[in-house]
Amino acid sequence: MANVLFTNVRVLDGTGEQPFLGEVQVQGNRIARVARGSRAMHGSGLTVIDGAGATLMPGMCEAHTHFSWNDQPSLGSIQKMPVEEHVLWCRHIAERYLRRGFTSCVGAATAKPRLDVVIRNAIEQGLIPGPRYLAASQEITVAGGLADETLPHLPFEELNFGAVISGPEEMRKCVRMFLKYGVDTIKLNLSGEYITGLPAEFTPMTDAEVATAVAEAKLRNKRVSAHARSCESIKQCVRHGIEIIYHASYADEEALDMLEARKDRHFVAPGIAWLIHTSHHAGEYGITPEIAKGMGYHRELEMACETLQKMRRRGIRILPGGDYGFAWIKHGTNAKDLEYFVKYLGFTPMQALISATKLGGEIMMRPNDLGCVKEGYLADLLLVDGDPVANISVLQDEKRLLAVMKDGEFHVAPDVQAGRGRLAVNAA
Ligand SMILES: [Zn+2]
Repeated sequence: MANVLFTNVRVLDGTGEQPFLGEVQVQGNRIARVARGSRAMHGSGLTVIDGAGATLMPGMCEAHTHFSWNDQPSLGSIQKMPVEEHVLWCRHIAERYLRRGFTSCVGAATAKPRLDVVIRNAIEQGLIPGPRYLAASQEITVAGGLADETLPHLPFEELNFGAVISGPEEMRKCVRMFLKYGVDTIKLNLSGEYITGLPAEFTPMTDAEVATAVAEAKLRNKRVSAHARSCESIKQCVRHGIEIIYHASYADEEALDMLEARKDRHFVAPGIAWLIHTSHHAGEYGITPEIAKGMGYHRELEMACETLQKMRRRGIRILPGGDYGFAWIKHGTNAKDLEYFVKYLGFTPMQALISATKLGGEIMMRPNDLGCVKEGYLADLLLVDGDPVANISVLQDEKRLLAVMKDGEFHVAPDVQAGRGRLAVNAA
């Protein structure tokens, strides 16, 4: 592990402070020192990287990740990939997230029971490159709910995108199985999804089933997340203490009050890009804007924008990311979410950046040492050619990510040879 000194960088520390010219020293896997100004630190014994005015910021967090989604146009076709290819696919995608500046990802459901756990373990063991990762279960659903994909004449469980249960005891068995496999998060599907023919406002899981899932997860100190578009499903999340709420489009005032009262406990990761792209950019796959409108996506997008703006004003934690890995919203383009937070949800670029970094540390359960450029924090850093506060979309351009460091190691090392004329490395 190299000890590195970044000099001549604009430090965007992730706390909301305006960027400042400074120097950052990495020792092992931690940020050892942050100083304002130039020539504040001695470079002896360190690899010195002259950033030539580039921005040094925390690595981003994707709060709603599905490595196992394979850029297909339906849940059924994602699931049909054989398990061997599927493992390799996840490995390939995990590396892509890291390269694109996402040094942390929260798994939001996996397409086969152990994919997420296996990939997380391989990353942690250093066998494959990838972000810090929290592994999810499959989507647990009820018969006839979202992700129950079997056909009446083909009742084979393997065709299911999710794990299908009926009743609390089946739920208990299912949750215990995923906990045995080693997941960090149990994922429940509490509402529908228009493309599957189930309305977003549909709330099919009973309170008894939800309560059993949460109780089993809590017994082992694990968290629960939920696909929750309908108002009632959002309320179920708050009532039962489901920490991570995905989508949350249709929250009414009562749901918002409930959520605000427990905002220290919950995170919302809406996956807003999914609604935008399904509404307007899925024509190539047969979902023209007109068809999307007929399904209900235009109305949901409108509702979600309104609801999420209210949540932002109430100080509820909203994080970027979500549902990339579908045909019309491909893996690797996830930094678009930050731009959409600004364009659709009324965030300032700085607020969007805080959501992707500081709040990322919080959802990764490391609020005190992940997601900021601060002394003692883990060295997950991006060196960005440009100013994300002035132009949030620079983060979408892989070429502008001059360096990506995770845990003190470069995954993308600054390319001095490429003749950018901006970076210089001196092994002092
Ligand atoms: Zn999702």
